[in-house]
Amino acid sequence: MVVILKRGVTQEKKEQMVDWLKGQGVGVHVVDGEFQTVLGLIGDTRGIDMDLISSLAIVESVKRVTESFKCVNRKFHPEDTIVRVGDVEVGGGNFTMIAGPCSVETEEQIVEVAKAVKAAGANMLRGGAFKPRTSPYDFQGLKAEGIELLKIARKETGLPIVTEIMSASSLPLFEDVDVIQVGARNMQNFDLLTQLGKIRKPILLKRGLANTLKELLMSAEYIMAGGNEQIILCERGIRTFDDYTRNTLDLAAVPMLRELTHLPIVVDPSHATGLARLVSPMALAASACGADGLIIEVHNDPMHALCDGAQSLTPEQYAELAKKVARVREAIRP
Ligand code: PEP
Ligand code: MN
Repeated sequence: MVVILKRGVTQEKKEQMVDWLKGQGVGVHVVDGEFQTVLGLIGDTRGIDMDLISSLAIVESVKRVTESFKCVNRKFHPEDTIVRVGDVEVGGGNFTMIAGPCSVETEEQIVEVAKAVKAAGANMLRGGAFKPRTSPYDFQGLKAEGIELLKIARKETGLPIVTEIMSASSLPLFEDVDVIQVGARNMQNFDLLTQLGKIRKPILLKRGLANTLKELLMSAEYIMAGGNEQIILCERGIRTFDDYTRNTLDLAAVPMLRELTHLPIVVDPSHATGLARLVSPMALAASACGADGLIIEVHNDPMHALCDGAQSLTPEQYAELAKKVARVREAIRP
C-alpha cells in the first residue's frame, strides 16, 4: 500500500503519521520527492483501514500495491532513482557508458583499455576479476590481483570501476570498488543479495539467463529491502531457442521495466549477442528504446583475449559506436 501525502505537510505531521503506521505493525518506506511525499507500507497491510487513512487531512490518496516487489516499485517511488558513483549519475535522464574488457588480464592491458575508453567518453571502466566460467578449466580471473589492477587503471584515468562479485565471502576485497556487479548466474543467489543489501555501495544487477522481469525485480527487492537503494538493473539477453546469437536481447524489457520500477536500466549488448559485429546495432537500438546506459566489452587485442574475445570491440570500434550513440540520444531527446 502507498500513502501519498498532500503538498506542504509539515515534518512533524509526517513523522506522527509514520509512527502511527508503524504502530499498526507495518514497515514504512518514506520517499520525499520533489513534488510529493510517498509512504510505502511494507509487510502485512491487510489490517490497515484504507478508508480511515484516506479521510485524514494530510493525505492526498491511498493505493494498494498488488505486486510482490514493493521498494523497487515505481508506485513506491514515482520519480526515477539516480545512482551516484562519484561524479557520475546513472538514471534520471543521464546516459552512462560503461566499457572495458571482459576480464582484467595484465596491468598494461587494463590501463591501455581504460585510457582508450576514457578518451572515447566512457563514464566507468568495467573488468572482471572474478570470472564465472562455464568450464572449470577456463581462465577464472586474476581475483584479488585483478581488483588491484583495476584500481591502478582508475588512478590513471579517474574512471570509477565496476567489477563482478561471485561470493559474499569475498566482499572485503570489494571495499574500494565503486560499483559491484552481480552477474547473470548469481541473480538469484539470495544470500549474496542479502549481504549486498547491508552495504552502501552501488550494485549493478544483471538479469539471469532464464529469468523473468518479475524475478529480476524481486532480486533487486532483496537488496533494497536491506536498505541499499543504489541499484542499477541490467538487461543482458536471455536464453531462447535460437543459437545464432549467444542470447536473445530482450529490448522490450527496457520500457517495461521503466514502467514497473524507478531504478535505472542499462543494456549489455556484448553478452546479449556474443558477436562483436552485432554489438553496435544492438547498442544503438538500446539507446533508442530508452536505456539509461550501456555496458560494453572492449579489448585492446580481441583475438588474444582470455575471455569473450569474439564479442569484444576494439577501442577504435568502441569510439565509433560512442559517437553514433550520442547521435541516437540526440535524435530521441524530448
Ligand atoms: C560479465 O559481465 O563479464 C558477465 C559474466 O556477464 P553476465 O553475468 O551477464 O554473463
Ligand atoms: Mn564477458
